[in-house]
Amino acid sequence: MKIIDTHAHYDDRQFDTDRYELIERILSDNVLGFINIGCDIESSIFSSELSKKYDNVYASVGIHPGMVDETEEDYTEKLKELCKNKKVVAIGEIGLDYHYEGYDRERQIRFFREQLALAKELSLPVIIHSRDATEDTMEILRELRPEKAVMHCFSGSAEIAAELVKLGIMISFTGVLTFKNSKKAVKACEETPIEMLMLETDSPYMAPTGYRGQRCDSSMTMVTAGKLAEIKGISTEEAISICNDNAIKFFGLDFS
Ligand SMILES: [Zn+2]
Repeated sequence: MKIIDTHAHYDDRQFDTDRYELIERILSDNVLGFINIGCDIESSIFSSELSKKYDNVYASVGIHPGMVDETEEDYTEKLKELCKNKKVVAIGEIGLDYHYEGYDRERQIRFFREQLALAKELSLPVIIHSRDATEDTMEILRELRPEKAVMHCFSGSAEIAAELVKLGIMISFTGVLTFKNSKKAVKACEETPIEMLMLETDSPYMAPTGYRGQRCDSSMTMVTAGKLAEIKGISTEEAISICNDNAIKFFGLDFS
């Protein structure tokens, strides 16, 4: 059974040596398809172009909170233009990231709100990145209520997961779910209805247990699926099938 990776960054320079070779190999191996995620204008253009190159590759476009300082004010027009490609299936990754010192909180919040509005205008789902910013992120989500949203690379508590689900927001797990120190995420996974869960890698980052320290690629989504299956007490095939269906429905993907 092949798996969908809902979040990867094949524009990353870690793929410079073998990017297209690798993509072709994983797509003919155990990866049904993936979504390449935009973090700034350049990677959004890359994602859109990549989706035109391969049938089973989709794209998202957006400005990551860590990239707002370098982004010019006319970015929404540029993103809108990219969304004319029907294989651009989401706005993302967008959100808040207070992890590194020197971030501009007000600017991050403004970009987050503007891109949530853009997604609403274009009727596209949003992919949310939130790091060390749970309170502000939740406040904005409660206020702006995106029609369709997923919290990417979730590692928070079961309580936060429950609050997201109440807002109709999906939860997506990376290899972090397989880490020994991820008890919180495991509990959140346990308590969240499987219909609200999706799988991703965040390649080249977040390689699952067994591959830690290595470059991650979409084929490793399988490892996280195995962990999710174990947590939910179902077979890996069942977990893959349900999470694939969730992604297909949520992003409107077509692999026929
Ligand atoms: Zn990412």
